[in-house]
Parts: sequence; structure tokens; C-alpha cells
Amino acid sequence: MTIHFDEDKQNLRLKLLRLEEEEKSVQLVSEKYGLPYIDLTRVPINTDGLRLIPEQEARDNVMAVFDIIGKRISIAIHSPGYAPTIQSIRNLQQKGYETAVFLASKHSIEKAWDRYKDLSFAFETEAGSLDISNDEIEQLIEKTKKLQDISTLIEEALAIKKSHKISRVIAIIMAGGLSTKASDIHIEAEVDQARVRYRLDGVLIEVIHFDMETYRLLLSRIKLLSGLKLNVKEMAQDGRFTVKIYMSDIEIRTSTVPGSYGESIVMRILNPKSISTPMEELGFPERLLKILNTEIARPNGLILTTGPTGSGKTTTLYAFLRQVQSPEMKIITIEDPIEYHLPGVVQTQVEEKKNYNFESGLRAALRQDPDVIMVGEIRDGETASTAIQASLTGHLVFSTLHTNNAAGTFTRLVDLGVDPKVLTSAIRVAMAQRLVRKLCNDCKKKIPVPPERQALADELFTSLEGFEEMKYFPTKPTEVWTAVGCEKCNSTGYKGRIGVYEAILADKNIEFIVRENPSEREIREAAAPQRILTMKQDGLIKIFQGVTSFEELERVVDIAEEIAVVKKEEPIPTFSETTYTETPIIENTPAVEEPKIEESLVSVPKYTEEKSIEISSPELNTPTV
Ligand SMILES: [Zn+2]
Repeated sequence: MTIHFDEDKQNLRLKLLRLEEEEKSVQLVSEKYGLPYIDLTRVPINTDGLRLIPEQEARDNVMAVFDIIGKRISIAIHSPGYAPTIQSIRNLQQKGYETAVFLASKHSIEKAWDRYKDLSFAFETEAGSLDISNDEIEQLIEKTKKLQDISTLIEEALAIKKSHKISRVIAIIMAGGLSTKASDIHIEAEVDQARVRYRLDGVLIEVIHFDMETYRLLLSRIKLLSGLKLNVKEMAQDGRFTVKIYMSDIEIRTSTVPGSYGESIVMRILNPKSISTPMEELGFPERLLKILNTEIARPNGLILTTGPTGSGKTTTLYAFLRQVQSPEMKIITIEDPIEYHLPGVVQTQVEEKKNYNFESGLRAALRQDPDVIMVGEIRDGETASTAIQASLTGHLVFSTLHTNNAAGTFTRLVDLGVDPKVLTSAIRVAMAQRLVRKLCNDCKKKIPVPPERQALADELFTSLEGFEEMKYFPTKPTEVWTAVGCEKCNSTGYKGRIGVYEAILADKNIEFIVRENPSEREIREAAAPQRILTMKQDGLIKIFQGVTSFEELERVVDIAEEIAVVKKEEPIPTFSETTYTETPIIENTPAVEEPKIEESLVSVPKYTEEKSIEISSPELNTPTV
């Protein structure tokens, strides 16, 4: 055993030495040709770049386009004198691309080629070979506007005796999900039948029941379609496939889990349109929107949004990214998982197996000289400290935290071990958010404020004194709207969703109180003079404006909690008065530039040029889209 282990070690060492030799010789050649050297195992590969050259051409000419920002592209090549390679580069230049050419080892270019499989997977869906044509789905979308249409069509399809009926049922289920804008499709086995449910605006709605035989056939088809193992039934599996409709690719992520009566399937529909909501349409209160627009235009600082899963945090951060995105900006994300593809942004995905987590990903991102970084979530002290450090050293950082409210951001970060003094220098805005369903405009009904809700109307009216939002309520609100249900909203009374928000800016008051180990309540009180609505106030305003209902707000916000009232003598701050500590205090946070080199052979991608053998590990893969 021991001998075997040593041999393995010996072989690995030899292999690593050979790779190191290869890198050295490429560096020598690069000096000769006057081309910069690059090690692609240490940089994230931007798959937008890969798309510019077909995989076969890239492999034949031993090259890869590994980054693209606007019209500027970075190309790694292996043989600078090889005519076909030069021709490929010329072709790109003729298409208007500005090219930066680097010399790389074949081993490191192979790392970029590896990422082609992520692309081809999305483009060459198995759908065609399984008799589901995208044309058929497009036609069905027109016929499945209502849930009732979907169940009728499925029943008709099941009645036919033809062999392709299962494909037809899948096509109807998919088309129905797309046309009703469902976020997920659930297919679950029960005792003697199976059911299909759609998640519409965050709520599961039943669509149809059918027999177990159909369920089993459907399950096999969907597993095949998603690249899952048919014979594996006792374990959870994840897969995906793509539907191309109306010229755009919609990715479907499938997951199966074993259940008492059979595997349960969930298909998540990642419709790029649903995430492309601009900031103006997310439901931010007017004043908060102005503040956010100012804050995300700054070159540095940390902007956090908090809330439970499904509260729209990702949508908000993506809207921020789209707002700041420009060809001059280098934006890098570390996500888990990448939910949507953002053009012009280098997106990387957490891969715990490869030791690429939020923290190591953030450190790797920092070596890429980014302007803006989005970290999917801050879960631990190391990630928190690195994110704070990054925001204090000239980067704009967006991230999320799991806390209930904006005040909780400060206490949570202190709990994670962040120095309170540093914290308030770094944070620009701490937000919290929830999603509520919007009342259907076609059927909502106006009613007098119910007596049991009168106290809420009074509380809102009193608490708004001195707020900009007072203008919406010259007198105390006396009417609200209630959900009814009609054909347009599948009888739910609601259609679409909107956010309710709150935010706290790290001003002098907050800076002072955070050092005193405060409770959330004390932070809320210290923030009251900022006169930014709380989620409760924002939600109540949306209720009295007829956007949503009491029932919806109660579902997601604690409306029993009192609103902190602003003391009369506090002046109303305007934007320019909102001041921040401009001198970063950084001595107590870990340095970003010199990350620890892990003992293990697997390490994060690096841009630096040190010759540690850890980096050349063959297992190492640059995480990409
Ligand atoms: Zn309606």
C-alpha cells in the first residue's frame, strides 16, 4: 500500500514537472516572438469569447478566444508561425474585433477547449431526437394561455393511442409553463396517480392529474431529455436541456428526488426575459431608487441585499449589474449556480469539489483587476472580510446575506467576525427585500379599509410624517383593493410580482451605533432619520395604492412589528448630506494580494506567476459558465 502511494506521488510529481517544463519553454518562445505569455489554467475563461470560433477550428489551429469585453478580445495561441492560426485571427479582425494575442502552452489551451462542452450542450439539445419540435412548442404556446386549456389539451393527447403521445404531453406541459410564465414545473407521484403543478408568481397551482403509467413514461422521457441516468432511482439527480422558442434559448434545469410513490421531478424554467427587468420596474420606492442609482454609480463600496430564498435578491443584483455594465467595465461574478447568462460579464460558478467557493472565487476575481464584483452570497467570515477588503480597495461589490431585515445586515456581519469600524466604511447600502404578488388589474375590487386593518392605516399615515412619500396620502387612506379572480389571472386574483424593500445607509449615526454592539431595534432607530421606508411602510403604501393586498404582505413581512418613528427635531437628510467615512481602515482585515496557498493539489485559478506546483494540478479547471 505504502509503495503504491509513493509511486502515485512520484508519477504525479513527474507529470507536474513536465507541465512546468512545458510552461517554461512557452515563456522562452514568447520572449522570442515578443508576445505576452499567459497560463489559461489561472484565468477564468469567458465563454462569450469561445463562441467566436467553432470548437473544431480552435482545436485545429491550437487557439482559444478566452475573453471578450465589447469588441476587444483576448486570444491564446500555441504556434505563432502557423498560417491557419494567423488566418483565424485575421478573420476576427475583419469582423471588427480588436485582438490581443497571447502565447500559451497546449496544456493550458486545452483547459479553454474543455469549456466548449458547456456551449454545445446548450445549443445541440436532444429535443429534436425525442420528437419534440420547437415549432410544436411555439404553436402550443398560443393555445395554452389559460390553465384550463393546458389540462384539456393534455387530456386530448392522452386519449390518442399513438406512440408519440408522451412527446406531445411533454410539449404541452412545457408550452403551458412558458406561456403562463411559470418559474417551475413540478411532476409528483401520489398513491395511485400523479399530478402536475406550476409555480406561478411564487405559488404552486395544480394543473392536472393523470395515471401512473403516463407518469412513468413521462419520467423516463424527461430524464432522457435532461441527460439523467434512467436506472438511478434512489438518488437525487440534476440535469438540463434547452428549448429554443422565438429565436431565444430557454434553459430548463431538471432535478429528480426519490419519493414514497416514485421520483418527483422539478423543471426550473430559466427564461432570460424574466430576469431582464430593469431597476425602474422592480418596485423600488422612488427615493430609494434615486439613492441606489447614485450608489451603484460610485467606483467602490459594498451594496448588500438580504432576504430569504425566493425574495428576488438575484433579480435585484442582476439589475444592478446591467445598470453598471459598459464596455469600459470589467465585471466578474461568483455564483451558485449561474442562473442566467449576462452578456459582457465574466460569470463563474462555485464548484466546491474544485475548492472554488465564494471566498476563493472572490480572491481569484480580485487578481483579474475587476471594477465590479458580484458575490452570490456571503455565508462566512472569510468571504465577508474579503468582500469588505475588496470594497475598500477600489472595487464596487454586490452581494447578498441571509438576514431578515436591513438592520440585521450589520449585526450579522459583526457576528461573522467583521470589525465594526471597517464594516461601516465599506457598506454603502444595506437592503432587505421580499416579493409580493400584484393584484390582477382586470378583477381587483375596491373596498373600505376593514375595521381590523384600520390601525395599520393610522400607523402608516402617522409614520410617514416628514417622508417624501407623504405626498401619496394627503389624507388618511380609507379604501383598499381586494383579490377577486378572473379568467386573465387563472382565478387567483393576482398577476405578476413586485418587490417591497427597505434600506439603511451607513451614515454617521449608524457608524456610531454599530460600534456599541447594538440590537437590530437600536440600529433601526438610529436609521430612522434617513427617512427611507421600511418594508412594512413600503408594503402598506403598495396596499393603499392598490398594487397588492394585506394578505400578500402578511405572508412575507411581519406587520405586527412597530415602525420606528422619527423624532420631530431630526432634519430630513437630502442626498448630498448623506456622508460616508471616506478613509478606509484596512489594517484589521486580511490582505487580498497574498492569498494562502492551500496544501491540497487543487487550487483556485491564479493570474500571478509563481511557480508552485499546486497550480498545475491536472484536476484544476477554470470555472466558467
Ligand atoms: Zn383577474
